[in-house]
Amino acid sequence: MLGIVRDVAGLRARVRDWRQDGAAVGLVPTMGALHEGHLALVRRSLATTERTCVTLFVNPRQFSPTEDFARYPRAEARDLALIEDAGAHLVFAPEAAEMYREGHQTEVSVGRIGEILEGEFRPGFFAGVATVVTKLLLQAQPDIAFFGEKDYQQLLVVRRLARDLDIPVEIAGVPTVRAPDGLALASRNAYLSDSERAIAPALYRVLVAAATNVAAGKKAKAEEARATAELKAAGFAPVDYVAVRDAESLEEARDPHRAHRVLAAAWLGQTRLIDNVAA
Ligand code: AMP
Repeated sequence: MLGIVRDVAGLRARVRDWRQDGAAVGLVPTMGALHEGHLALVRRSLATTERTCVTLFVNPRQFSPTEDFARYPRAEARDLALIEDAGAHLVFAPEAAEMYREGHQTEVSVGRIGEILEGEFRPGFFAGVATVVTKLLLQAQPDIAFFGEKDYQQLLVVRRLARDLDIPVEIAGVPTVRAPDGLALASRNAYLSDSERAIAPALYRVLVAAATNVAAGKKAKAEEARATAELKAAGFAPVDYVAVRDAESLEEARDPHRAHRVLAAAWLGQTRLIDNVAA
């Protein structure tokens, strides 16, 4: 039976019981509106740990005033059914007032890795993410927490903060789950019109082509420019960035012998899509 708790004390009590039974605990943080990408994280946790807690929390602190917090998709009853079907053990679904109690001040800032790429286009975003993820890790104290490669920079930000703050948790990355046409599953895909949805898979196609070329020795800058032009031609506007970066630091790729990642963010109408692939 799936348990649901909405307060930190309840979450801690459940996890304490599991630990007393010697169970390893997995945590899957999400903002809800679940799809197969989220469920891949849940399944990975179930396969790796004895007890899995999924969190559902649309974190107001990672949205800027001009972003889509108010209209972000919310579907709690459906999410709970999907989580129960998957076989997870507990849902933590707090109200904002439980997460950020009156007078809350503290923010976690991860420095440079949170300031480039997404951080440049969404100021404050990674401070919001790092703060809520730090809180969730300290509240649940899982053995392993699972994050999607879909949000590759976020995965690295979370690894950074866990290391820097000595939080005793393993951060596991899970490969991106895609629609058959290549589009990375995302809760915000629900915003796309039919014609935008038809264009959207070009993002993945263009990234794969750039990654293939970079792996074959072509110049990063030329591939970034070519991919940007192709996205614009496909109908994306604006293209926030296409970046060939070192896969660990996300700094400019200078050493051809290191692993690279090609990352992009681009708009279709009112919807901002992000994606990334290994090169
Ligand atoms: P979100 O609810 O969008 O904040 O995402 C919650 C978690 O699910 C994050 O770790 C995401 O990276 C991960 N996630 C979202 N979409 C996908 C996907 N298509 N494939 C794999 N993981 C995903």
